[in-house]
Amino acid sequence: DSLNKEEFFGHPKALFILFFTEMWERFSFYGMKALLIFYLTKYHLFSDTSGNLLIGSYAALVYAVPVLGGFIADRYLGFRKAIVFGGIMLVLGHVGMAYEGNAATQSITGEITRDETALQIFYFSLSLIIVGVGFLKANISSLVGELYETGDKRRDSGFTLFYMGINLGSFMATLICVWLGETYGWSYGFGAAGVGMFFGLLTFISGRKLLMGKGESNNASLLEKKSFGLKNEWLIYIGSILSTLLFWQMVQNHNAVSWALKIAGGISFIYIVYYAVTKLDGKARHQLIALTILIVFTIVFWALFEQAYTSMNLFADRILDRTIFGYEISAGQFLSFNALFIILLAPVFAWIWPNLGKYNPNTAVKFALALALVGLGFGALVMGINLSGTGKVAAIWLILAYLLHTCGELSLSPVGLSAVTKLSPAKIVGFMMGVWFLATASSEFIASILANIASVDTSNGTAPDLNLAKQSYLVLFEYLFYTGLGFGLLLLLLSPVIKKLMHGVDKELNN
Ligand code: GLN
Repeated sequence: DSLNKEEFFGHPKALFILFFTEMWERFSFYGMKALLIFYLTKYHLFSDTSGNLLIGSYAALVYAVPVLGGFIADRYLGFRKAIVFGGIMLVLGHVGMAYEGNAATQSITGEITRDETALQIFYFSLSLIIVGVGFLKANISSLVGELYETGDKRRDSGFTLFYMGINLGSFMATLICVWLGETYGWSYGFGAAGVGMFFGLLTFISGRKLLMGKGESNNASLLEKKSFGLKNEWLIYIGSILSTLLFWQMVQNHNAVSWALKIAGGISFIYIVYYAVTKLDGKARHQLIALTILIVFTIVFWALFEQAYTSMNLFADRILDRTIFGYEISAGQFLSFNALFIILLAPVFAWIWPNLGKYNPNTAVKFALALALVGLGFGALVMGINLSGTGKVAAIWLILAYLLHTCGELSLSPVGLSAVTKLSPAKIVGFMMGVWFLATASSEFIASILANIASVDTSNGTAPDLNLAKQSYLVLFEYLFYTGLGFGLLLLLLSPVIKKLMHGVDKELNN
């Protein structure tokens, strides 16, 4: 046990293995995501609308599958094996993305010819990433939780550090992968994401000893047992590899994803109600109801926030004067501001809340604040467009929007993860964490539909007229501004009720 006592910055050393693994995983995830809308619209000549919808389906699946990955890890594989398997799938998926095939061409009559083989390889690569994230994302967070004994005061600062690792990865990716992708070609940008994930996998495998047996299967004998002549462990891997075939088809079918989300959401909701009614009473029941209401509101928050990778990214490309201090940076690189602000502000927020003492707002009020802030971020963009006259919008407005969005994220995301672990009954924490990400999955889907409000017609193959394009972004951003403020106000009004339902548990949160 002596190794376990070895610490780094006052935390178990294993935290830093998880920190760097997740940093590289998010490096690959966000590096690829930052390039995606441009790859679709500029290389394969997708319309804005079909590009947005594809990203919506992909991102929805990416955040929905961790529910299953978490379940499989809990029951069978354990976190460590799940993470290794997820990592391998991710490396393969990102390497697959590096195959670019031929660019689409458009004839004078407007007909578009696409490289179907390249597109199918691309969709299949997405399905590998979906399964990979499914095995890795929720499980690595749960493993962070396992490093601390119950009541260990370092838990929340551990999660804050971990959240900074996530954003360090995203920061580097949005700068490096976007630069490589735009300067040397898509393969280089996507390929760099794959190389990053490979480093992540190596980090995790080589740091295995520091985990000191944490994250092992609860059911090792079951894994060893054979069914159909094969070890159960291998059956799980084979089944998961085969499931990529399903996701390969689903990612191309927006309707199928929509149905899957409705069914998963409906079943989860019914199960929560059933559980609350039959297994819980008093405080515990109230707390689960409070958590469920809060999770519903996160759908609105992320649906607005996630405009970053679709409408805001295209906006930056088309309408923004992207010069900062004399340097022109590319559209996708603006995404790095979100990550940068998280890295700078996460410690500040983590410090401020508890120091507010009795003025530390309850979780519902923090969520309401988050919704208002994400709305205000769009307010900044509306202002920027209105002040731009006939020219492009100044970069500062998008940076301000990301600053406001980041403050919102910090009032909701780390606080929310903490709330999930404390408001749900111990037996269903893992499931509720899955539901938390399932909410994000619906948000991603809704975000893409919202982004379509600002779709610009590019079908004649020329750059869209600046003023026409501005008008469509204005309509969307104004709408999102009111939506954020409206839902923020609604939640603020509901917050006294939710506060009662939480029975003071959130006051024990050290967020
Ligand atoms: N940006 C965070 C991450 O990548 C949170 C994402 C989310 O919950 N929607 O982990």
